[in-house]
Amino acid sequence: MKTLNLKVYGIVQGVGFRPFVSRNALALSVKGSVSNKGSYVDIYMQGENSEKLTDIILTSPPERACIFFWEKSYSDREEYTDFEISESEKEKGEIFVSPDIALCPTCEKELFDKNNKRYLHPFINCTQCGPRLTITDHMPYDRERTSMKSFPMCKECEREYYDPSSRRYDAQPVCCNSCGPKVYIIGKDIQDKEAISYARKALNQGKILALKGIGGFHICCDATNVQAVKRLRELKHRPSKPFALMFKDVREVKKHCHISPEEEKLLTGWQKPIILLEKKEDSPLPDILAPESKTLGTFLPYSPLHALLFSLPDHQNISPVLVMTSGNPHGAPICRNDEQALKYLSGFCDIILSHDREILIRADDTVTDFYRNKPYMIRRSRGFAPLPIVVNEKLKGDGIAIGGELKNTFCLAKKNLLYPSPYIGDIGDIRSFTVLEHSIKKMTELFEAEPKWIVCDKHPLYHTTRIAEDLSYKLDIPLVKLQHHYAHILSCMAENDFNSKVIGVAFDGTGYGDDGAIWGGEFFVCDRENYKRVASVMPFMQPGGDLSSKEGYRVAASLLEEENYRKNPHICDKNTYTVIQNMKKTGINTVLSTSCGRLFDAVSSILNIRQASTYEGDAANALMYYAQLCKDEKYLPFSPLTVEEDSLLRLNTTNFINRLSREEGDKISLSYRFHAVLSDMVAEACKIIREKYNINTCALSGGVFQNKLLLRLCVERLESKGFKVLIHSLIPPNDGGLCLGQAYYNLKEEI
Ligand code: ZN
Ligand code: FE
Repeated sequence: MKTLNLKVYGIVQGVGFRPFVSRNALALSVKGSVSNKGSYVDIYMQGENSEKLTDIILTSPPERACIFFWEKSYSDREEYTDFEISESEKEKGEIFVSPDIALCPTCEKELFDKNNKRYLHPFINCTQCGPRLTITDHMPYDRERTSMKSFPMCKECEREYYDPSSRRYDAQPVCCNSCGPKVYIIGKDIQDKEAISYARKALNQGKILALKGIGGFHICCDATNVQAVKRLRELKHRPSKPFALMFKDVREVKKHCHISPEEEKLLTGWQKPIILLEKKEDSPLPDILAPESKTLGTFLPYSPLHALLFSLPDHQNISPVLVMTSGNPHGAPICRNDEQALKYLSGFCDIILSHDREILIRADDTVTDFYRNKPYMIRRSRGFAPLPIVVNEKLKGDGIAIGGELKNTFCLAKKNLLYPSPYIGDIGDIRSFTVLEHSIKKMTELFEAEPKWIVCDKHPLYHTTRIAEDLSYKLDIPLVKLQHHYAHILSCMAENDFNSKVIGVAFDGTGYGDDGAIWGGEFFVCDRENYKRVASVMPFMQPGGDLSSKEGYRVAASLLEEENYRKNPHICDKNTYTVIQNMKKTGINTVLSTSCGRLFDAVSSILNIRQASTYEGDAANALMYYAQLCKDEKYLPFSPLTVEEDSLLRLNTTNFINRLSREEGDKISLSYRFHAVLSDMVAEACKIIREKYNINTCALSGGVFQNKLLLRLCVERLESKGFKVLIHSLIPPNDGGLCLGQAYYNLKEEI
C-alpha cells in the first residue's frame, strides 16, 4: 500500500511530539506508525489524509518542538491496522536534545489541586514540561536512559504513560507521590512535605538554605531580610555583586520592576531565564540586593519544588521574593550532588534541602538583558543549551571549539549546526577544569559527535589550551589556535548568520594579542577566513599583569600624567604612583595593553567610584550606573578622536582620559561623558575604516559590550552614519560566546 514516510529532525524528543502525531493521526483516520530514532522522529502514514497530517506536523508542531529540517518520501508497504507508537530504536545520525522545560501551567494547577493524585508532588511533569538535558544520559531520550531509570513507574503512572489521551502519554520523567523521587533535609530525618515545610520555616527565621534544583544547587534566603542577605554576602565573600531574585509570581515582579511585554513573555515562558529588569524607584526591596545597579536579576519559579517552596499550604507565609544564587564556591562550577553540596556549600548555609533525582549534566540559570525588545544574553545556559545555532547550510564541519578561559562554554559543530554547551565557569579553577573535561566527553557522547578538528584560544597559558592540546593528541585531530578578539567578532557574525566582510569592533577585558601584548580594544577588517587589525585603543602600560584587572587604580596611575595625578590623589598614594611610573619606564612587571575593559576600571578609579573590583566587571558596572543616572545627554565633545600611530589608527583614549581627569564636574556627568566620547571614537574610527576598505557593516562584540549604555550609544552613532550594525542577542558578547566564533571559523564552505 502507498505509504508516506516523513522524517523530522530537530527538538522532537521529550516535547510530546509522538503523542501529538498519534493524536492527529487518529483524528484524521490516518494509519501507520511513529517512532523515535534517536536522531529523528520517523513517521509512516497510510490513508487519504496523509498529506494533510504532514502539513499539520510541519506547520503547527507542539510549542516546545523545534524542527530543523525534514525529509519526505513514498514507498510501498504492508497495510497498517491502526496508528501506533513504536518503541524507540537507536539509529546513528543527528542528535537533538531538548533543553529543560519549566513547570507548565497545567501541571502547576494539578500541583495545588487536593483531588489530584500528584497533589504537592515536587517532581510533577508532563509531555510539555520537566527536566530534559540535565537528566539525560544517552539518546534516544527514553526513561531508561535518564536519571529517572531508578524510579520504576507505579501501575497508575504506567497507565497514563501508555494512554494516548493522557497528558503524560510517553512523558519520560512521569512519576507521582508514590513512585517518584523524594526530597529530604540532609543530615536530618525529615522528608517529603515536612522537609519543604522545614525549609520554609528556616527561610522565615532568616536562615540560609541550599536547595537542589534542576541543573544544580541554589543558595537561597529571604530577600526582604537585610540581616540574612548581609550574612550571606559575608559568608560568600561577595560584598557587592548583585544577587538573582526569584519572585513568587509575575504580579510580585511588577511591584518592584518595570517590565515590557517582550520581557514578560520570556520571563513567564517555558525557558524561565533570569532577566535584568529595571528596578522601580519606589521598590521597597533593600539596596543590599543589588547595590549601585539600576536593574534586578529577576526570575520566576521553574520547578515544582520552587513553587512549593513559595506556596506549600502549611500555614506559614513566606517572603514572595527570595535571593536565589548559584550554589558554587567562588570560581567553581555549580554543585550537582549531595557530596559536593556538603563539601562546598555547608560553609554558606544552615540547611540543605536535597532530593534523590540525579543531575547528570549541570545547567546554571541563564541570564539575559534586553536591548531593543530582544534578549541580549549575558549567560546562556538552562532552557537554551543545547539548542543549536543554525548557520547557512553551505557551511559545514564537525569539530569541537573549546572556548575561552573565563565564563567557559564549549561548542560542538555538526554540519551547519553549532551547539554551545551549558555554562561551565572559570577554568583557572581546577574544579572547573575537571568539569570541562568531563562535560566535553559527555556531550560528545550524547551528540554522537565525531570531531575532525579542535579549536582553542591562542593564549599559551590558558588551561583550555592545555585541554585542547591533550584532546587533539588523544583523538589525533588537528588543533587550530585562534586569536581571542577575532573569535569574538566571528561569534557575532555566526549568530547573525553573516558570512561576508565586516568591520569588527571587539571591546573586551583581556585577550592574547598576536604581538604578545594584551589586546581588548580592537578594530578588525575581517571575514570568516582572515582578519587584519586596523585600529585599536591607544596602547598603554598595564602594570602588575593580572592584578591590575582587579585594581583599576593601577591602570589609572599608569595613564595619568603627573600633574593630573596630583589633581586626583585619591587614586593612590604618591609612593605607589612613583613606583608605577618607574615600572612603566623600566618595563619591569608591566605589559603593553590595548584593553578597553581596563580603561573603564581606570576611569572608575579616577572618578572615585571604585579603586578596585570585588568581582569581574564591578568597577565598570558602577561607572555605567552613574553614567545612566545622567538625565541630560549633553556633553562636551573631544578632539581629535583618533590619531595615526605606527601605521595603525588609534583611539585617542589616553589623552582623553587625562583631559577628563582635569575636568570639574560630578561623577554622573563625567562618567556619561566618558561613554559618549568613547562611542564618538568608535563611530569615527569605523568611518575612517569604511573610507579605506569600503565595508559598511560593523559587528560589535566582547565583554565590554555588556555595557548597555555604551552599546546603545555606539549603535546609534554608527546607524546615523549609515552603517549596518550586527550585535548579539542569544549568544553573549562576553567570553561565554567565544566558542561559537571558534567553531564558525573552522566550518568549510561548499561551493
Ligand atoms: Zn506513580
Ligand atoms: Fe574576551
